[in-house]
Amino acid sequence: MAEFVMDNCSVNENGHLTVAGVDTVELARRYGTPLMVLDENKIRSIARVYKEAMRKYFGEGSMPLFASKALSFTGIYRIMAEEGIGSDAVSSGEIYTAKNAGFDISKMVFHGNNKTDADIEYAISLGIGRFVVDGDEELEAVNEIAGRHGIKQRIELRITPGIDPHTHKAISTGRVDSKFGNAIATGQAEKITVKALSLPNIELMGFHCHIGSQIFEVEPFVQAAEIMMKYIADIKKKTGFTAKELNLGGGFGVRYVKEHPYFDYGQAIKTLADKMKRIASISGIAMPIVFMEPGRSMVASAGLTLYTVGSVKRIPDMKNYVSVDGGMTDNPRYALYQSQYEMVIANKADKKADFACSVAGRCCESGDLLAENIMLQGAEKGDVLAVLVTGAYNYAMASNYNRIPRPELVMIRDGEPYVAIKRESFEDLIRNEI
Ligand SMILES: *Cc1c(COP(=O)(O)O)cnc(C)c1O
Repeated sequence: MAEFVMDNCSVNENGHLTVAGVDTVELARRYGTPLMVLDENKIRSIARVYKEAMRKYFGEGSMPLFASKALSFTGIYRIMAEEGIGSDAVSSGEIYTAKNAGFDISKMVFHGNNKTDADIEYAISLGIGRFVVDGDEELEAVNEIAGRHGIKQRIELRITPGIDPHTHKAISTGRVDSKFGNAIATGQAEKITVKALSLPNIELMGFHCHIGSQIFEVEPFVQAAEIMMKYIADIKKKTGFTAKELNLGGGFGVRYVKEHPYFDYGQAIKTLADKMKRIASISGIAMPIVFMEPGRSMVASAGLTLYTVGSVKRIPDMKNYVSVDGGMTDNPRYALYQSQYEMVIANKADKKADFACSVAGRCCESGDLLAENIMLQGAEKGDVLAVLVTGAYNYAMASNYNRIPRPELVMIRDGEPYVAIKRESFEDLIRNEI
């Protein structure tokens, strides 16, 4: 049987690609294309891996917070709520969506390097769990607005540990020049920590760092955690303040194509915990409650996108284009980062992939591509193309460029598909236009 990067994909007796046991060609026929398909059981099982490993190795109170920028919509917050985990947000729009879905906002942390006063007001009025405060202006604004609401607002401070996750080097420049956070190396971290401790309406819970994304090794995370634990110990020595919480951000890698390695999230969490416990005991500090913010790794491998092939263009002695009825409007990741994907002609999934081609979207833009120089089963008009591992940063990044409505999003629970987000209509496109 064919092997796919998604372990919930297979080929059935009709030679069709299946996901979570459901025939994708049938899904395309029933719901139309382009279509986003998400395996709900898969998302829940990944959430449980994180939740159980974090509780087991970091202890009670430690948990994953789903980085909802990877895929923010009503249904996903309901799932995270049911799984008993937290979430993060980077905008009032995400907080609104979560609140409206019944998500407990006290289990939400609020990120961003430029939260407006209106954002801060909104989040405090809904009882946001933590602000991850990025800078001085925000710290002062949270203190002021919390005071007006008569509360002491819990915060974590965003710290820049100075790690380049792709070289594993702890560096005093480089990542220190990030737009996010307060660098330890420049003394700004300590300065804002001391300031946070002095403000009457702020309760400093601890610190946060996020070193990057799509990282396949545990080593950069270990280094970041080590730097953060030493920072906690240093601050305790200087101020007497012991951080109760350490938030290590997101960034675990996802296997998009077979060339990418497997990455065992549970094992990585164990490695991190072992290392941190050793540093805690050497430095004489208590082990903090640990949060992590998986986004991509929580949802990417649960999703695929289905398109209908509209044309196949053969340029003699040069290249072939397979054009589909979606593209950069539902998946801008190839146009933005040349991200690689595994693709298969869903109605010919049992056939050999012997047709060299590039896959083009339908936008009026030469850069609207989903892949270049890949091998597909011989494609023709009417075929269904499946692009695998599209659960993260696809729907979340979708746009209406060229006035293309966003696709439908269907979830599969226990083998039963259901619509979680309706396809946008033309009326939706002009809804706010006067
Ligand atoms: C983007 C982001 C995440 C999630 O990163 P993934 O690579 O999707 O896991 C978590 N925390 C913060 C602060 C982020 O900016």
